[in-house]
Amino acid sequence: MSERVVKCSMCGKALRPGQTYYKCSVSTCNSGRLRLSFCSPGCWDAHLPTARHRSAGYTEHVN
Ligand SMILES: [Zn+2]
Ligand SMILES: [Zn+2]
Repeated sequence: MSERVVKCSMCGKALRPGQTYYKCSVSTCNSGRLRLSFCSPGCWDAHLPTARHRSAGYTEHVN
């Protein structure tokens, strides 16, 4: 049994099934074990200073 609970990488809030979440468009944020997901564009925005992306966007997904 591996029920995957996706949590916001910024605020730690669990994403409910059917909820829209956001992923960083930069590949390093989506590779390997580091798969950042965000509950809102605001939380995605908050990771930018720590991630030091030159240019970044986000994509919308449904959980
Ligand atoms: Zn969040
Ligand atoms: Zn990123």
